Order: sequence, then C-alpha cells, then structure tokens
Amino acid sequence: MFHRILIANRGEIAVRIIRSCREMEIETVAVYSTADADALHVKLATRAVCIGPAKAGESYLNMSAILTAALETGCDAIHPGYGFLSENAEFADLCQQCGLKFIGPSGDVIRKMGNKSAARDLMRANGVPVVPGSDGPVASAEEALEIAEAIGYPVLIKASAGGGGRGMRRVDAAEDLPALYASAQAEAVACFGDGELYVEKLILSPRHIEFQILTDGQGNVVHLGERDCSIQRRNQKLMEESPSKALSAELREAMGDAAVRAAQAAGYQSAGTVEFVLDHDGNFYFIEMNTRIQVEHPVTEFVTGLDLIREQIRIAAGLSLSVRQEDVRQTGWAMECRINAEDPTQGFHPSPGKVEFLHLPGGPGVRVDTALFNGSELSPWYDSLAAKVVVYAPTRLEAIRKMRRALEELIIEGFPTTADLCHLILYQPDFVKGRYDTGFLEQHMDELLKWDCEGNQ
Ligand code: ADP
Repeated sequence: MFHRILIANRGEIAVRIIRSCREMEIETVAVYSTADADALHVKLATRAVCIGPAKAGESYLNMSAILTAALETGCDAIHPGYGFLSENAEFADLCQQCGLKFIGPSGDVIRKMGNKSAARDLMRANGVPVVPGSDGPVASAEEALEIAEAIGYPVLIKASAGGGGRGMRRVDAAEDLPALYASAQAEAVACFGDGELYVEKLILSPRHIEFQILTDGQGNVVHLGERDCSIQRRNQKLMEESPSKALSAELREAMGDAAVRAAQAAGYQSAGTVEFVLDHDGNFYFIEMNTRIQVEHPVTEFVTGLDLIREQIRIAAGLSLSVRQEDVRQTGWAMECRINAEDPTQGFHPSPGKVEFLHLPGGPGVRVDTALFNGSELSPWYDSLAAKVVVYAPTRLEAIRKMRRALEELIIEGFPTTADLCHLILYQPDFVKGRYDTGFLEQHMDELLKWDCEGNQ
C-alpha cells in the first residue's frame, strides 16, 4: 500500500480524499495556491506545499510544480480528484515517468475516452448503443448538415474534447446550423484548444442515467448501479439520486451490462462512470465515459456501502477489487443536492464570497461534503460548489423528507446559493412522483422561483 499520497486538488474533494487516506493510514500532502493558504484541505493534510498563485493555470494545473512537490515530499502516488488535471492524459503519463502512481486509469485510456467522438466509435464497435449521429468527427458545417438531414432535427453539435456543457449547441433547423456550428467550434477552441466537432441526434426529454464502474488490474469489472442525474441546469447536474425511478430491474441489468462492456472496451482500470441518456421508450444510448471520480459519487457510496476513494487507491496499489458483482447490493435510497454559490434568480450567476455564518445539517443518514467553515472564503478563482448535502433512507419518499429536513437545517450566510431552489424542487409534485427528465428544471424554473419556502404557490 502507498505510504504517502499527494492530492492534486482543493475544496471538498481534496478533503474527501484526505478522509479516506487517514482511515487507510496513508499520509497526505496537500497542494495549494496562495488564494487557498487558509483552506481546509491544507489544515487537514499531513503536510502542505504551496504550488503557485491563485490562477489555476499557474497552480492546480501546473504539472511541474505538482510533480516537484510530490517528489520532494517523498510521495508514492497522486490522487487528482475531479476537474483540474484529473482527465489530463499527459499528466498521467508524466506521473508514471516520475515513478509516481497516478490514481486513475492510464494516460492512454484517458486519451481514448477524452475524445468523445472516438469514444463513441469504440463503443459502437463493441456493441454499446450510442446516440445516432456522425461516424467520427465532422470536417465542416456542410458535412454536419448532411448528417443532420439524414438523422433528422433536432440535433446536437458537440465538441470531441467537450466537458462542462461547453462547445455544445442544439440545432432545430438547417438554416440555423452554420452559425451554431461556428459558435460551437469557436467555444471548443477557446475552452479546449481543439475545435473538433461531431453530431448527435438530440434525444427529446431524456433522463441522464450513469453507471459507476470499478475495474482492477486483474481484469475484474463490477458496476455499482446507477445514478439519475436528470435535474440539471444548462446541461449541468444539480441533484442526483440512486437508484433511479426510471429503471426496471431488467433495464438496470441491461444498462449495467452495457456499462461493463464499455469499461472492458476501453481497457479501463480504476473507478469510472459510463454516462447514458435514456429515452421515454426505454432505449438507452452511451454519451461519454468519465475517467475520474465524480462529484456525485457519495450517492453510490450510500446505497452500496463502499468507499469509492478507497477502492480507487486499492486498485492503483495493485490490489484486486474488494467486491464481486454478486456481492454488490444496492439498498435504500440516496439523494444529493449540490449547494453552489450561484444565484438561481440571476441565471445561476456565480456568487462567491465570505462565509459569514455556517451551520451544517447532521443527524442519521445525512452527510455533508464541504471545505467551508465559519469565516472561510468561497474563492472566486475556482468552481462554485460550496457543499454537497447527501442523504440516505430506506425509501425514496423518506429520502425526500430527510433532504427537506437537512436543507432546512443548512445555513450559509454570506452569499446566495442553490439550497433554496433544491428545497423547492423537493416539493414539486412531478419530482416527488419521480417523473422528471433533463428538461425538468428549465420547464419548472419560473414556477419554482414563485413558490415560498413551504412549497406553497
Ligand atoms: P459534457 O461532458 O459537456 O457535460 P455530456 O455529453 O456529458 O457533456 O452531456 C451533458 C448533458 O447534455 C447530458 O447530461 C444530457 O442532459 C445532455 N445531452 C447530451 N447528449 C444528449 C443527447 N444526444 N440528447 C439529449 N440530451 C443530451
């Protein structure tokens, strides 16, 4: 087992990783930018090293500073968390070259899955259903037009290097395509330095269903069931739950099998997520594979009783999975709300600031992952996730009630957050019935913002 792990991240996920390391009696080295000198992950780690100024490009994305810190502090592995360098194939390769174990899949696998268009082709070739669309990338707007005509509108233009919903455009009619193609390309170049695009049919009002998989170096692959991440704003997740109301036992098995096939096709090793969209007729289609730990992993931890960070570390250390597929049991119901420093009444505009007062919910079945504390600063330099409130109960209705109660206990003073909006969603009748899709929030936003906190219109 590793002796000392450097955590190449910050915020709640760095804290989360430190917790598992402590339980495994592994020392931790935190890295931090000058903006994070007082951050919680710095206080909780065994040691901490400043790696540069606030700007992520010069600190949390600064590969040589991070590798130097790991080598100088005698680390034997690096956990990248999510975001930042977590899906950077070059960084994974460099870790290996420096004799440091990258806690994640190999650089080659990250590269293979990081190009979403190439990943689609690989999945299709291995019998995993993909959304109808282009074979590989498209070379021009004209080619995209031809494909759109063939598969029918509406379509999505997507960036092969895409992530975070960027470089993605919905196209409803041929005459709109050239301009939307150009703007998707410009955004993809600006965000990812890569303008390659591909075309997919837009599945109308789908659910976003993803499967957590674990794969070790001995060829064992298991899936840990699904997460329903259909409560989204601007194609970005806000609330997640496991299991999903949309899956029958048969559908769960079919999608789980497809997720395992996807992991095998990728030659995957570590924890990963296979994302699908599910249409109203029960057809599911692969959209992408995320080669890292996900923000929403705690819901899977609750329903399976597994510690996914621990599993990642064990796999990276060459140990075999601690579970077999037949041992995996999904029990009860888990739900997560992302409490972002964003103002839902202002188009989810980021609203970072100082935490004037903080009170976190607790009690049975409530987990809060956050790096905030009284008097801390939610930095404007990084993402706006302030806390994840996660609950676990025997049934979905009890999980909803527990989450309502948990959000009522939560107090974050100092900046607006998405907490009240999540609270209102928990009273929305379609949500309570489990009848929702990725269009839910946009459809109900105006109505929800008019509600008071008791959920009465
Ligand atoms: P990113 O990696 O940029 O987040 P994804 O491919 O994961 O992009 O898609 C983000 C979200 O966009 C999905 O969760 C889903 O809501 C929506 N989406 C993606 N592809 C499709 C599709 N073909 N049809 C309908 N919705 C889609």
